[in-house]
Amino acid sequence: MAQKQQARRSKKAPSPETGEQAMIEGIFEGSPEAVGVAVIRLDCGCRKMAAIDPGGDPASKIIMYRDNAQSICDQCKGDHGDFQRIVKQFINWKKPEPDHVTMTMISAKVLGN
Ligand SMILES: [Zn+2]
Repeated sequence: MAQKQQARRSKKAPSPETGEQAMIEGIFEGSPEAVGVAVIRLDCGCRKMAAIDPGGDPASKIIMYRDNAQSICDQCKGDHGDFQRIVKQFINWKKPEPDHVTMTMISAKVLGN
């Protein structure tokens, strides 16, 4: 019954899956200046991730990985995760999250919309 108020505050960004969460924590450890990690899910099941600095620029190398696999798939080895195969992309913000204006600016720069 009181669910509606909660829904209004819902974040549009999906939450990371367990495997992604572990990667994200590792990326934050390696890039302490990062304000967030961009998570890009590809249609083959591989993931691309990169730490984002406060200016919306990459704060780390782009990391590609595949859950429960030693390496990314052959398709990704060929096209490096072409943007046409992206099924979902979002930024996992570090807590405390940046202010709304900063988040919007960074999202636009990183995700391109
Ligand atoms: Zn792949």
